[in-house]
Amino acid sequence: MNDHSARHRSTEARPRRAAAASDPSGSHPAELERLAALFGAAPLAVLTGAGISTDSGIPDYRGAGTPPRTPMSIAQFMEDPAYRRRFWAGARVGALRAAGVAPNSGHLALARFEAAGLTNGVITQNVDNLHRRAGSRSVVELHGNGNVIRCTEHDHRFTRDQVLGWFDDLNPGFAARNAGAEIAPDGDALVSETAAVEAPSCPECGSILRPDVVYFGELVPRPVFEAAEALVASAGGLLLIGTSLAVNTGIRLVHRAQLRGIPIGVINRGPTAIDARESVTVRIDAGAAETLAALEHLLGSS
Ligand SMILES: [Zn+2]
Repeated sequence: MNDHSARHRSTEARPRRAAAASDPSGSHPAELERLAALFGAAPLAVLTGAGISTDSGIPDYRGAGTPPRTPMSIAQFMEDPAYRRRFWAGARVGALRAAGVAPNSGHLALARFEAAGLTNGVITQNVDNLHRRAGSRSVVELHGNGNVIRCTEHDHRFTRDQVLGWFDDLNPGFAARNAGAEIAPDGDALVSETAAVEAPSCPECGSILRPDVVYFGELVPRPVFEAAEALVASAGGLLLIGTSLAVNTGIRLVHRAQLRGIPIGVINRGPTAIDARESVTVRIDAGAAETLAALEHLLGSS
């Protein structure tokens, strides 16, 4: 893009109140132009939420019209062997269903933006590993990575595939017998045969294994939040994608951006917690994948 004109448009767009656009590819080209203008201050920091992964078939529990989810209780997980058996049984069946999940065009576009220097990486609230799989290099996973399993005594780390392999060794035939198990609306497998299940434990020290995920009631590790802050601190703007900002950590990063006075853009289906703020200079009410594709096209053609 032409750097000079982009900066000019960015400055011009800054004081305006955000207005929602419903179709970035056609009926509201002005909104998309203003979104593209944010990149005049590149690199931007990017914060993504569940909305970017819905096009990969991963449900957004916080999106409009979805049932409230009972969050996994990590306290119960640690205390109750039966709870852990159900967890691993569900994880085993869920992995069979998730085999076809792949990064979508939105994840891929963000990886290309980073490679082109348009963004300085991606901060994500998702634990689905799809940004890394798409090729993003600078990834801050605020809530951890569900593909990483760690032991609770010594932080020995393994991949989910490794641990599920141990599950299969401990529970021969289980996966095949339960491959057709029903999946609940919240994504958990309804596996009835769990009383005899043996949960895998750490092969190094024997302690309980858990996903390296920040569960409800747990805190984002300080070094992780500091890495996210560093991306916002070195960015010329902040782009929020597929998040309603219901999570406190996301709001704190928005505050960092506001303190620096950098512009904020929002791509999200439905309302977000910061829609009324003056710092939100452009807001597009549409899907992440379609909007990022249109944005990439515009950035490439200007
Ligand atoms: Zn261990």
